[in-house]
Amino acid sequence: MDPNGGKKGVFNRLSKYEAKKRLNREPFTRKTISFYRYVAIKNAISLRDKLYLEWKDLFVLGRIYIAKEGINAQLSVPENTWEDFISNINSYPEFKAMRFKYAIEDDGKSFFKLTIKVRDQIVADGLKRNEYDVSNVGKHLDAVSWNNAIDNGATVIDMRNHYESEIGRFKGAICPQTETFKEELPKVRELLSGKENKKILLYCTGGIRCEKASAYLKHHGFVNVNQLHGGIIDYARQLQQNSNLENKFEGKNFVFDERLGERISDTIISACHQCGSPSDTHINCKNVDCNLLFIQCEQCREEHEGCCSPDCISTIKMPPDIQKMTSKKRKNNKRFHSHRKLDLSKAFKK
Ligand SMILES: [Zn+2]
Ligand SMILES: [Zn+2]
Repeated sequence: MDPNGGKKGVFNRLSKYEAKKRLNREPFTRKTISFYRYVAIKNAISLRDKLYLEWKDLFVLGRIYIAKEGINAQLSVPENTWEDFISNINSYPEFKAMRFKYAIEDDGKSFFKLTIKVRDQIVADGLKRNEYDVSNVGKHLDAVSWNNAIDNGATVIDMRNHYESEIGRFKGAICPQTETFKEELPKVRELLSGKENKKILLYCTGGIRCEKASAYLKHHGFVNVNQLHGGIIDYARQLQQNSNLENKFEGKNFVFDERLGERISDTIISACHQCGSPSDTHINCKNVDCNLLFIQCEQCREEHEGCCSPDCISTIKMPPDIQKMTSKKRKNNKRFHSHRKLDLSKAFKK
């Protein structure tokens, strides 16, 4: 399916290289924000077309998903069109009084393009429609109540994927080693079995996944389900604003944009997938057809030229026309496919 609905010309056709160059020339600054809302959207396709044209005019960049169940948006908005952007959002009854989350480590280069996609769901859950009720979610906790609950011994569950919790997580959190949210829901239910009456704390990047996860757990008999309001992004903001607040999050918050992570604490909790030295820098393999997401330290980055394997190094060294030929065979455009089933430390061993 063409995510742009076959509307050639209306949508962004710049190459990443051109888009980056253009972004670097911009005479204004940008801020990175995110928001989501579960709200009934009647005609997602026409909404997408309208938003695309309006936001393009405001020089907004980012990745936005629209579905019948709502909107999930990560954006980079120029400071000088910010007011217009807010009025634009407020002109849609579905999006009125939206709560934004602001990035804490922001170089204004989080996105190079504007992409708005229509999906079946804004968070793919793999559940049956009667397996949760989004209007019956857990209790939202601010950072202070969240910390208190941890101190009082509540069970903390990381609702993100394994490559996200690998570089940063709440101390003592249970981090299911799953690749997708779909896979994680039943896993979490199983892990929590027997704790139906215990206090459960859920967290994710910005809160959107916990809305479904908490509704799902409540539906399945868990009575004391709580979730971190605004996710790690807003927890970090509250830390910045309240110096009395203890930071219980270690490492980096993985983010789904060009930055790939925001540092929340100075502790490095993960290791380079190639040499094992401390590192929490995710990269996508330099070979665009591989694009594997993995952790690579600076030294390995230099030594292996940003690649995950000897194969990928030889590919990037091939003449461009030969690269094009081989790329047809093994195209992998998925930006966040990761390494769970691979052992990269062996890739360079002779
Ligand atoms: Zn290394
Ligand atoms: Zn590779």
